[in-house]
Amino acid sequence: IPVAPFDLVVFGGTGDLAKRKIIPALFRRFVAGQFEEDARIIGAARAALSGAEYRTLAEEALKEFSAEYVENSKEVAAFLHMLDYVSIDATGDGGWEELKAKTSTDRVQAFYFSVAPSLFGALAERLHSYQIAGPEARVVVEKPFGRDQETAKALNATLAEYFDETQIYRIDHYLGKETVQNLMALRFGNMMFEPLWNNHYIDHIQITVAETVGVGGRGAYYDKSGAMRDMVQNHLMQLLCLIAMEPPAIYDADAVRDEKLKVIRALQPVAPHHIVRGQYEATDTAPSYRDDAENPRSFTESFIAMRCEIANWRWAGVPFYLRTGKKLRARSSEIAVVFKALGHSIFEGDTGPHRNILSIRLQPNEGIDMTVTVKEPGPGGMRLIDVPLDLTFAEAMAGTDSPEAYERLIMDVIRGNQTLFMRGDEVEAAWRWTDPLINGWEARNDVPKQYVPGSSGPEDALMLLHRDGRRWRDIK
Ligand code: NAD
Repeated sequence: IPVAPFDLVVFGGTGDLAKRKIIPALFRRFVAGQFEEDARIIGAARAALSGAEYRTLAEEALKEFSAEYVENSKEVAAFLHMLDYVSIDATGDGGWEELKAKTSTDRVQAFYFSVAPSLFGALAERLHSYQIAGPEARVVVEKPFGRDQETAKALNATLAEYFDETQIYRIDHYLGKETVQNLMALRFGNMMFEPLWNNHYIDHIQITVAETVGVGGRGAYYDKSGAMRDMVQNHLMQLLCLIAMEPPAIYDADAVRDEKLKVIRALQPVAPHHIVRGQYEATDTAPSYRDDAENPRSFTESFIAMRCEIANWRWAGVPFYLRTGKKLRARSSEIAVVFKALGHSIFEGDTGPHRNILSIRLQPNEGIDMTVTVKEPGPGGMRLIDVPLDLTFAEAMAGTDSPEAYERLIMDVIRGNQTLFMRGDEVEAAWRWTDPLINGWEARNDVPKQYVPGSSGPEDALMLLHRDGRRWRDIK
């Protein structure tokens, strides 16, 4: 469905995020026919570039980061025609009058803050004082949204001085993934899952986001955050919320976010022995985490595994095991819902126990599979085996072109749909849960365990489940 004519101003329009994600996402939506040539996309950043030079920069970005560039060469010129540029100083006065002349409050206005969070206040203040942003204008902000509850509150307060909560779009690109939304369709659009979705039938849940890359290149920056702040507080928590939340009465932004917030509030403090932090070691050819971080005494984690609990009627007694890290065996993200084993087998000699496992894969091969128990084919009697019922989206939805996370999210901003964006109170509540955990290990001077690059993380992370008589799913 095409969106209304819009002006999108990308502050930080020459930066890495704009080049790798925002510009290619806009191009793809344009090629898909989602907006017309009357849209205006205005890069705004420090560099002194002309409009023509910015269009060249954007074209280079498309060449490098957009698979559609070659096959849609006809659309490239029309797309670039919509692009313009203003050289702007977020903290000064240069460029603001020029920006004002280029956008109109009569149209849908979106201001993408693809810059460091320390500039959010300055940008918001100037959009207001130069009367650039109309009453319905939207602002889009990126992670990291603070580094603890206090800084997140301060950022929320700064934005709230100039914008209403209904105008603020806090991006967590995990929420833009097709499978993540499918999780809601699966839970709330089928009869067969929801009745089983509780502590009577579910044994535990595993959420894994594994990366193969290290932090090389941005190690010094990463060293100030670590896996908890960089991944758990936002992405893993969002996944956990969607798995655990109660059904909202309707699929609308506040109804969904109210339910997510209740989950975050019900998360229990995590005991230190239920948290395992790790750092990758060096290999013969690759540096260690501490080398990459340029900090030989770094205590920051490049891996974390933890056992969490949600204290409510639905989930009491069901552990949620979360795990994420760098330089692991494979690039793989999965949510696995592991059902309880049958209490009794009627099949003599069956070596069970068998468990149904619903696995929601975010990458690679986005899709869902369900492990079910069937009879092994052949004349050998009733021998049972566990096999997957596989729904790989690429096959099931062949012919439909599913948009990538940034495409969907940017179009949702233009449409004014906040459902897949984090609300301010959600972000603060998430920090309220993570802060004491982080403060705890900092106060204890907890030293992360070393792990071998290409492994599944430190041995202790395996023990976290072994102690409970469970095991992690393979990272593959
Ligand atoms: P970057 O350093 O590549 O680009 C920063 C941009 O901000 C540049 O265009 C620069 O000109 C502009 N800028 C800096 N100071 C300015 C000023 N005073 N006035 C006007 N413009 C100014 O950064 P990035 O990697 O593109 O990241 C942008 C934001 O997005 C950051 O908050 C980052 O944490 C976040 N983010 C980035 C990624 C990513 O993949 N790069 C992913 C998630 C979140």
